[in-house]
Amino acid sequence: MRKRFIAGAVCPQCQQKDTLALWRENNVDVVECVKCGHQMREADKQAKSQVRENEQVIGIFHPE
Ligand SMILES: [Zn+2]
Repeated sequence: MRKRFIAGAVCPQCQQKDTLALWRENNVDVVECVKCGHQMREADKQAKSQVRENEQVIGIFHPE
């Protein structure tokens, strides 16, 4: 599964920048902080606005 990192996004949990990865799981957008593991889903309004504001991909992460 491909993960995209969101440029300029700040994790609401640990306040770290550029740590939020975004991917799609069962037609649901999932955003996860790779630093603290905080996870948000499409249903979460906070996640949605977070992605909209920072919809700039800075890299693609390929897990094994
Ligand atoms: Zn975090």
